[in-house]
Amino acid sequence: MANIRFKKFYVRPAFPDNLNPLLELASNIWTTWDTSAYRLFLRIDPKLFREENHNPTSIIRNISENRIRELSNSAGFVKELETVYRKFKEYLSFEGQYMKEYEKKLNVSEDFKIAYFSMEYGLHESLPIYSGGLGILSGDHLKGASDLGLPLYGFGLLYKLGYFNQRINLEGMQEEIYEVNNWYTKPVHKLLNEDGSEMIFKILLGNETCYIQPWCINVGKIPLYLMDTNLILNKDKFRHITDYLYVTDREMRLLQELVIAYGSAELMKQLKIVPTIYHLNEGHSAFLILKRLEDLINEHKYSYEEAVELIHSSTVFTTHTPVPAGNERFSNDLVEPYLKDHCQAFGKSFNEIKQLAAEQDRENQFSLSVLAIRFSNYINGVSKLHSEVSKEMWSSIYPGVTKQEMPIHGITNGVHIQTWLGPQLVELFDRYVGTGYQHLAEEKSVWENVYSIPDTEIWEAHMQRKQQLISYINKRLEKSLIYKNDLKLFHQGRSLVLDASHLLIGFARRFAPYKRANLILRNPERLLKLLNHPTHPVQFVFAGKAHPADDKGKELIKKIIEFAREHDVQDKFIFLEDYNIDLARHLVQGVDVWLNNPIKPLEASGTSGMKAGMNGVLNLSVLDGWWPECYDGENGWALEAGENIQDQELRDRMEAEELYYMLENEIAPLYYTRNKNGYPSVWISKMINSIYSVGRGFNMHRMLREYVNDFYLPGSLYSKILNQDNQKCLLELVALKDTLTKSWNDVRISDLKLDLHENAIVLSGQKIPVTATAFLNGLDDDLLECEIYYKYDDKFAIASLRKTRTEGEFTIFEGNIKIIGSGIQYFNARLKPRPYLFRDFPHLVKWYY
Ligand SMILES: *Cc1c(COP(=O)(O)O)cnc(C)c1O
Repeated sequence: MANIRFKKFYVRPAFPDNLNPLLELASNIWTTWDTSAYRLFLRIDPKLFREENHNPTSIIRNISENRIRELSNSAGFVKELETVYRKFKEYLSFEGQYMKEYEKKLNVSEDFKIAYFSMEYGLHESLPIYSGGLGILSGDHLKGASDLGLPLYGFGLLYKLGYFNQRINLEGMQEEIYEVNNWYTKPVHKLLNEDGSEMIFKILLGNETCYIQPWCINVGKIPLYLMDTNLILNKDKFRHITDYLYVTDREMRLLQELVIAYGSAELMKQLKIVPTIYHLNEGHSAFLILKRLEDLINEHKYSYEEAVELIHSSTVFTTHTPVPAGNERFSNDLVEPYLKDHCQAFGKSFNEIKQLAAEQDRENQFSLSVLAIRFSNYINGVSKLHSEVSKEMWSSIYPGVTKQEMPIHGITNGVHIQTWLGPQLVELFDRYVGTGYQHLAEEKSVWENVYSIPDTEIWEAHMQRKQQLISYINKRLEKSLIYKNDLKLFHQGRSLVLDASHLLIGFARRFAPYKRANLILRNPERLLKLLNHPTHPVQFVFAGKAHPADDKGKELIKKIIEFAREHDVQDKFIFLEDYNIDLARHLVQGVDVWLNNPIKPLEASGTSGMKAGMNGVLNLSVLDGWWPECYDGENGWALEAGENIQDQELRDRMEAEELYYMLENEIAPLYYTRNKNGYPSVWISKMINSIYSVGRGFNMHRMLREYVNDFYLPGSLYSKILNQDNQKCLLELVALKDTLTKSWNDVRISDLKLDLHENAIVLSGQKIPVTATAFLNGLDDDLLECEIYYKYDDKFAIASLRKTRTEGEFTIFEGNIKIIGSGIQYFNARLKPRPYLFRDFPHLVKWYY
């Protein structure tokens, strides 16, 4: 027997008619975020459901025939199934009031379509095709888009092994375990051709053919298309392209990013999806820009210049990385063989194209972020603060543009409420807030109902979540080598770690060094005092994976484990292995405080704090990422001792001091201050403030509204207008750009006069006349704006000047600046082209000085 190979096939149990809706429910991710559907599947077989990672498809595949018969004969179950199924059908047919409203306004309805590209999607714990925050955001983006009825299509890769499972060995070191995904038991299906055969298509990588098989995940109403190269048809190297998420080998990574770009484009053709918006979530998918150039020029016969404008008008780029090193780039030598032919196909050499992806100070590198920025009219960072940091980082791409005016917006991340809100709170929301919160993203009147939930009910709901978290942690620890070995804690099946009546602090995120998981370890004695305090004890739970190549991150994990071992506090200073969505959900719903102490400004947004905050878990966080936009003094705590300190050692020390101080003097005392009924009433009022402010301001629907209003709709409208009437506007735009570019070199302001005496005292409120003399080099003055840029305090104002006359070859512009405030102030005059429709020309600006 040993040497005989068998072909494997799966047999799904047969379902009687009255259970058939289960099959449809199990094949949609909606089932994992809707509380009633989740309960229904739990009821089928609670033990199996938990063992199978709450994966509905797996239950359907593995359920016994006996159990099927029982359920089919249980009137109660069948009734519940009918109710859930009806809810599901209603959900699918709900148009989304939000979209209807906007379609009317902007009339972009018929062809409005968004294609969304991301390397990772965090949808559910049973689908390990995500590593961290970026993936969770993409997953939540699709779920929110489904709720709102946005016409969005997701594209990504289906990884055979995905991201690793984390095990901690007896030395406290992380070990990475990769499991081959068994797609048969997951809510994902192969795409079929019209004749029922499996869809397979090909693309060129270099000069070799790579075959791709597309799969699909139903995320509510949104299809997520994932590409797989693990096919016998492919040569060995290509077969492994989609093995691992964030593979470290540079060429493999390049191949992945070529597949997501060239593969998605080909797949869209197969599926006849013609998007009006292409949303690149991070630079990984930016090769798509080159593919679009190729197609627009070769298949649709646009000129290169026209194609550039069409792509520019319809591309959204979201950057997530506040440090230059974190951005995706490849050496030109590696990229060239793969791109050369593609570039030639649209009439450019690789050398010309690589200039568009070139970064200052990094010669020979092909930067995907730079390429994306150059070709996108709609660019954003993921919080207000992060957009400012991004402006700084990319300022060399916009040499003549002031920082404030750089076209990088801040659209702060959000999270999908139904996925992250604990079931007890869902119930309270349904009863006291009404279901409106699911659709009316930030409606004040809806969210204010949160304040009508009685304190005691909030607290009871929280305590239930906390108890459940603690029993969940104890169960998980039973599988942990270290805990079994060290403590023999679990011998009688008793849960022995953590006490629900003690304050519990959670810290879970990737173990990247900048997140400083070890900050709390700086002063072991002070930490031990907190842990062993006789009346105000504090407990900690940590979780998180370090990237397999990040030895520093792994060292941090080890330190935490060693500290607990050494000081015999393993029952209240805990590291939980294998951080994933399931563990995240339990933690953000069940701890009391969510600790976040990154080195500012390296946390671009952060979303785990949002999940915690809307569950009434109070944030204790450095004012980084999203937190400065939310923190109001009454809804959590801010760590700010490190602000503006450059010296890293000093900063760590100051922030650690502050952290101990707050825990000792504010947070623990407040937690243990109880009213006569035993409730911590001031704490609860902070919880309610947190639920209100985070729920209202940082939900996914608020975020999507901003993308729709600021990017998706204007972009769709813009590209539609460019194409109308035989591309009239497109031709005009290209001609305009050409005229401007040709003449621009010699355009200048030759003189600027302010009606102001040397050393004169200027009073606030005064209006000062200005005259600028400009040489327009033959350009029509209608095409240009001449203006004064005026800077006071940290603000600026623009005063536009009017053309009053010409003097020989010079054009005279005149106007006034109105003086605001006092102190040293600055101004300068500039000439720039007027925007054309939604198009600015940031590379064409001439300043006087
Ligand atoms: C939310 C989440 C993250 C992102 O959290 P950050 O605050 O950005 O660190 C990472 N991993 C998982 C599993 C999550 O649920």
